[in-house]
Amino acid sequence: MTRGVCLCGALEYQFTAPFQMMMHCHCSMCRKHHGAMFATFVAAPYSAFRWVRGEDALEKFKSSEHGVRSYCRQCGSVGPTLIPESGFAFAPAGNLDGDPGIRPQGHMFAGSKSALYEITDSLPQYAAVPPDFGGGTGVARPTVEQREGVADGSCLCGDVAYEVRAPMRMYHCHCSRCRRARSAAHTTNMFSSIADFSFTRGEHLVKEYKVPEAARFGVSFCTRCGGKVARVSRERGTVVVPVGALDTNPGMLPQANIFVASKAPWFDITDALPQFAEMPPT
Ligand SMILES: [Zn+2]
Ligand SMILES: [Zn+2]
Ligand SMILES: [Zn+2]
Repeated sequence: MTRGVCLCGALEYQFTAPFQMMMHCHCSMCRKHHGAMFATFVAAPYSAFRWVRGEDALEKFKSSEHGVRSYCRQCGSVGPTLIPESGFAFAPAGNLDGDPGIRPQGHMFAGSKSALYEITDSLPQYAAVPPDFGGGTGVARPTVEQREGVADGSCLCGDVAYEVRAPMRMYHCHCSRCRRARSAAHTTNMFSSIADFSFTRGEHLVKEYKVPEAARFGVSFCTRCGGKVARVSRERGTVVVPVGALDTNPGMLPQANIFVASKAPWFDITDALPQFAEMPPT
């Protein structure tokens, strides 16, 4: 049995049969919804899925004419996707406890991946939907024009947008809180000073969830779509920007993998960046 749980614990569910599929998805909608460079999903027979609690805490957003995405109303973690008519239940691997007993099988929507992310493993790559899953190209998405000296970011529905000037650092973080918060293998965060950050629209739609027992850890998301957005961390004096949700290039690439001692058992780090067991030395 494998358990899935959101960052705040409101959503909890179980799978009672082995997973049959595990895929990374680099589409821009996954990147915005998760706030990660890519999402990773597992699938099992629908009959193997059961809620423990939290079905009533699930918000839904119709992200296209083909898809509905769900998230926890309180913490923004991505929820499971149940498609009884297909016979399958899908869940974001970042919310699973322990070892799911399956490993990633490929990269979907590699043609839409972030320009700041290089795929360095040897798994098969599909430009869009793999032929085995019916093929298809996905939906057209809005583009944002690059501005000099500024990186723009926005949520999945587009109602929240922000700009970052003068970013300072960018890390892939593998800590267990980031994995649950982003519902992903790891997060990729960029940091800027509070003075170098502004919301440009929709700030009133942003909800912030702080883990009660954590000194500083929190996450911000759009309440309309669940898309992860930049979090102004007054405790740290910095802004934490989910790089996968950026619309334009910040002129910086990831610099290290941090908290690798806590990484997901199903994810192998294959890039050549420095690795730190926890925080990098300052
Ligand atoms: Zn939650
Ligand atoms: Zn996707
Ligand atoms: Zn939104």
